[in-house]
Amino acid sequence: MRIPLIAGNWKMNTTVAEAMELASSMRARLDKIEGIEKVVCPPSISLTAVGRILQDSSVRLGAQNMYFEVKGAYTGEISPTMLKGLVQFVILGHSERRACFGETDEVINKKVQAALDFGLKPILCVGERLEENEAGETERVITKQLTRSLGGIKPTINLVIAYEPVWAIGTGRAADGLTAKTTIKCIRDVLAKLWDNDVAQEVRVLYGGSVTSNNIAEFVSQSEIDGALVGGASLKADEFPSIVSQSFVIKRQGA
Ligand code: PEP
Repeated sequence: MRIPLIAGNWKMNTTVAEAMELASSMRARLDKIEGIEKVVCPPSISLTAVGRILQDSSVRLGAQNMYFEVKGAYTGEISPTMLKGLVQFVILGHSERRACFGETDEVINKKVQAALDFGLKPILCVGERLEENEAGETERVITKQLTRSLGGIKPTINLVIAYEPVWAIGTGRAADGLTAKTTIKCIRDVLAKLWDNDVAQEVRVLYGGSVTSNNIAEFVSQSEIDGALVGGASLKADEFPSIVSQSFVIKRQGA
């Protein structure tokens, strides 16, 4: 039984005061929705403040990134020991980290291992670029990203994978539900080969890319898709709880 999960990636938005206000305005509505895991990922500078606001609620906290070393001369970075106890999840390998900051699958692999070593649940992002999609290379790209970023990592159900086609992120042009489902099936096949089929069936796989309250149903109504990683729409105090509550209703109906 895979528990559905909706995560909000606030990216580099909100001051500390704005993050606190956003978390406060969503807390009560999100807290009421049970049977689905709800995660918000504010900028790292706001994690402590938002964590206080979410204390004793069922809303979980996630970081947007993390370095793999525990401490030392890595100016500007945040380590797994700093996040341990503060967050439960950490987004790793987001396409913006890959594109803007040159993150490779090899670096992401070390980050995934470090997160797991410190009891954090990685939300590992994979996805193809537009030209790769158009060239029919989606499965090849995803397989390569997964194989490299999970190489040497012991099978675990504490991993969450987010399938995020790069061309769908922040563009308003989401993938269609059936295409996302097909790629997510491929992700499970890769996991089954890398690890084993039982674990592959238990790992949660999300869709991400221009998800809103208007299209979430298309994704979560697919049984292969366990939820969503939401960017822009997670910054809206009404929109994000609506995405979560629609997902809960659809999954409760057996999707
Ligand atoms: C994301 O940042 O992971 C994302 C999916 O963004 P958006 O929902 O804005 O496309």
